[in-house]
Amino acid sequence: MSKAVLVAGAGPAGLAAAHALASVGVPVTLVEREQRLGGAPILSGYAKLVPSGEWAKDAIGGMVARVESNPLVTVKRGCTVARLDGEPGAFRAGLSDGSSVDAGAAILATGFTHFDSINKPEWGFGTYPDVVTTTQVEQMISSGRGIRCPSDGRKPERVAILLCVGSRDRQIGREWCSKICCTVSCNIAMEIREELPSCHVYIYYMDIRTFGLYETKYYWQSQEEFKVKYIKARIAEVTSDGSKLIVKGEDTLVKRPITIPFDMVVHAIGMDPNIDNKRISTAFGVDLQEHGYIGKASAYGTAGATSRPGVFVAGAATGPETIDDSIAQANAAAMAALALINRAPAPATA
Ligand SMILES: Cc1cc2nc3c(=O)[nH]c(=O)nc-3n(C[C@H](O)[C@H](O)[C@H](O)COP(=O)(O)OP(=O)(O)OC[C@H]3O[C@@H](n4cnc5c(N)ncnc54)[C@H](O)[C@@H]3O)c2cc1C
Ligand code: SF4
Repeated sequence: MSKAVLVAGAGPAGLAAAHALASVGVPVTLVEREQRLGGAPILSGYAKLVPSGEWAKDAIGGMVARVESNPLVTVKRGCTVARLDGEPGAFRAGLSDGSSVDAGAAILATGFTHFDSINKPEWGFGTYPDVVTTTQVEQMISSGRGIRCPSDGRKPERVAILLCVGSRDRQIGREWCSKICCTVSCNIAMEIREELPSCHVYIYYMDIRTFGLYETKYYWQSQEEFKVKYIKARIAEVTSDGSKLIVKGEDTLVKRPITIPFDMVVHAIGMDPNIDNKRISTAFGVDLQEHGYIGKASAYGTAGATSRPGVFVAGAATGPETIDDSIAQANAAAMAALALINRAPAPATA
């Protein structure tokens, strides 16, 4: 029987779970596939987060530092879980580095994979260098380079942000809404207008889902204060006339074709299931849900329970989630893991 907990994935969810457990005296082994901790906000170089406005490197960097300095947390970098044997209260995880770890419970916080815009070739990514993704724009801002056209480094005079790239798209098998990309795009649009006040920024949308309290702060503010223009449209293709990118589609409000030139086109990419999920499902013995995210056993029962007793899940591993919801789920999963290991008999002492 083990009173320790194994956490897989050191993004916002895994960091929150590890901290919560260590803060009540539970030893944690935190296994992270990459060499750096912090998950998507750090690994992909996000800039200012919504809704806090804090820089990702400070906000999530603080979560990383808190875990790294905690003596109860053992961090294994560049490592994954190859198999999980045993039962609740007494698991043994075989790791990819050949070592093994005993744990009474496990939490999967293995997150998501950014949609690869190459899978939407008609919208120009991979063909035209000035068609970029929201993560690339985040990196331009967080690196301090500013918003520049990758082809020649010029400041764009006209930018289009295309929403729902790799989300809500049945043709490419991605039916889900990625939840946060409308709000992130409104925020990016305001950031561009702030840095380049003469730049015209257009957002092409099917629907705007700045859910909950984000409506005023992002949707209305971006229009009223920052003069971002919104076009309700179906986009057909992104091409080039040699000097400008051309976005062609149909304005679905007036039901007319529209063709507008831009210097830069930004894909608001969605949140795919983690590309490793089949392997994770086999290693941990948990079921995936229909789209390939880690399945939850119940919506209202034990928080974060999966199909395998003693293995819990939190954050974007379960589907598109915001950072604050990922953290909340991680705290709930930590509580469920704690309840489980406290039920298990204490290890025999020599
Ligand atoms: C462009 C963009 C901008 C965004 N901006 C915001 C924002 O401003 N505010 C907000 O609330 N949300 C934002 N989000 C959403 C945010 O990225 C997620 O809510 C958050 O990253 C989820 O955290 P997580 O820990 O669940 O997953 P992740 O951040 O994906 O972390 C998962 C971790 O697990 C690791 N991992 C994966 N597989 C394994 C494995 N097999 N074994 C071990 N480790 C593994 C990964 O390397 C990673 O470190 C944005 C999303 C996108 C696409
Ligand atoms: S949050 Fe907005 S951009 Fe993202 S998938 Fe949903 S509707 Fe599309």
